[in-house]
Amino acid sequence: MDTEIVEMLRGKGLKVTPQRLAVMKLLSRGGHFNGEQIYEELKKNEPSISLSTVYNALEALENAGIVNSFEANGITWYEMATKAHINVFCLDTKEIIDVSANLQDIENQLMEKGFDVKNVSVVAYASCNKVSNK
Ligand SMILES: [Zn+2]
Repeated sequence: MDTEIVEMLRGKGLKVTPQRLAVMKLLSRGGHFNGEQIYEELKKNEPSISLSTVYNALEALENAGIVNSFEANGITWYEMATKAHINVFCLDTKEIIDVSANLQDIENQLMEKGFDVKNVSVVAYASCNKVSNK
């Protein structure tokens, strides 16, 4: 898996650093993480890592189009850049799930207007009603 990640980074013209590698390993497991969560995970193996190092790595990966970020519930979340989809934030569990949707229309319209589409982030808020407040 390391080799794959290393090649992906190099393919995008990024220097391979231990921090970028660690962020990629975590995100490639799938799911959505905020900066604090990524920092906490990486700290387990690399106690000297700082939060700003984590954000620098995320910024480089996002600029290279490998990682996407979006905002939900006032927090910035990161995930591997995949096919455009809807991120559903559950107001009860605070979890984010992916729902696939055909968002090609958005990309097509933007491209027709001459835009170079970098990232389509659609966020929906929903309630699963499975969590009782009692
Ligand atoms: Zn997602």
